[in-house]
Amino acid sequence: MRAGYSGIGRQRPASFAQRHAPVELHIAPTRRSMSGPVDFGQRGMAMTDVRRGRCLCGAVRFSAQGKPDWVGICHCESCRRATGGIVTAVAGYPRERVQFEGEQHRIYESSPGVRRGFCARCGSSLTYEGARWPDDVHVLVAAFDRPEDFPPQVHVFATECVSWLKLRDNLPRFRTFPSEGTLLPPMSEV
Ligand SMILES: [Zn+2]
Ligand SMILES: [Zn+2]
Repeated sequence: MRAGYSGIGRQRPASFAQRHAPVELHIAPTRRSMSGPVDFGQRGMAMTDVRRGRCLCGAVRFSAQGKPDWVGICHCESCRRATGGIVTAVAGYPRERVQFEGEQHRIYESSPGVRRGFCARCGSSLTYEGARWPDDVHVLVAAFDRPEDFPPQVHVFATECVSWLKLRDNLPRFRTFPSEGTLLPPMSEV
């Protein structure tokens, strides 16, 4: 187990050097690319652990098997506009572990290689897919029936966070994605 963070409820103190060490992982660390100072914990799956969710009107329903690979909070302007939320929490799953039922959700390509899924009937934001993570789907935590089951582990695009929002946590914050962004001081030190 490498030093770092293992979830909001299981944080261990990390030194400044650990928190600001060079980072190699993606916000969506695939099974191949997991590395860096952020420990996303056990990613095994129990077949009985099914997490369900739906859009606001219920036309689109989905289920995800097991724990997500990671959970992050995105502060970027695109997510803000797409979801209407001032932050957007997303849970990264391998594509094969997420099943949809009911009506087919629609896709809006918000930029080249970025596909945002939403309910065509009620407009709820449901998913994010990026070409850089072809095997994964990021499911919006707010669409799950029990979002409290998805404590975040990391902030991304932290520099786009609205100035009046003060989240006093100790989670690592990245300027963009962990794979390419600068690690910023935690919110509690800003
Ligand atoms: Zn709907
Ligand atoms: Zn975003």
